Amino acid sequence: MKPAPLTIVKCPSCRENLYRHGMASGNTFGAVFWTDGYIDAPMLPHYPGFVKCPVCGKIMEINNLPKFWREKPSIFDEEGLLQKQPAPSKVQDPLRLSIEEYLSLAKRLRDFGKIKNTIINAWWLANHPARENPQAPHQLSGPLYAALERLLPALLKDPCDEQSRLMGAEILRETGAFKACLTELKQTRFSRVRKSKILIRRLALKKDSRVQAINPRPSDYWLR
Ligand SMILES: [Zn+2]
Repeated sequence: MKPAPLTIVKCPSCRENLYRHGMASGNTFGAVFWTDGYIDAPMLPHYPGFVKCPVCGKIMEINNLPKFWREKPSIFDEEGLLQKQPAPSKVQDPLRLSIEEYLSLAKRLRDFGKIKNTIINAWWLANHPARENPQAPHQLSGPLYAALERLLPALLKDPCDEQSRLMGAEILRETGAFKACLTELKQTRFSRVRKSKILIRRLALKKDSRVQAINPRPSDYWLR
């Protein structure tokens, strides 16, 4: 795992210095893959595209902000980058969005890819308690349920996009539409995501709507 060079951006609203985290390279060694598409990879941390300023609360797409300072500037960095100055002494970590903030953001966005990612991030967040504790109650909130339902037709429409269709089938399962989930799984071959499909199908047949690890860590077997 190799983090990207330390990069600092400015909050577009209050001008606070914020870290922009990222990876130069990573891998999925030791990763746990989940039925909702979330990957818990110690060597490939998940850095969401939208974050919140801890000072003024502004929600921003951090990767779109100009770099203010970078540890090892490359020739591709913007002109005017403060390359030779020392890093600012006070820099804050941006905050991650809550489920409610993701859902409210999704309503304001125009780009479908960003709307999709934002709703999926909210969904993953809602599933985190069940990842920590398989006995945790699994119920998606009304607004999240509605957002996932709105996303479904787009996920299921492309016959060539196995990943999206499987995610659609998983949403059907997690929202209790087990029959529709099984129909969807039957209609698509899912040659590249076979293991996930088999598990999602088995859970749908049992009418189990909880998120599950596709490859639990060996130690997890002792917990279940
Ligand atoms: Zn701010």
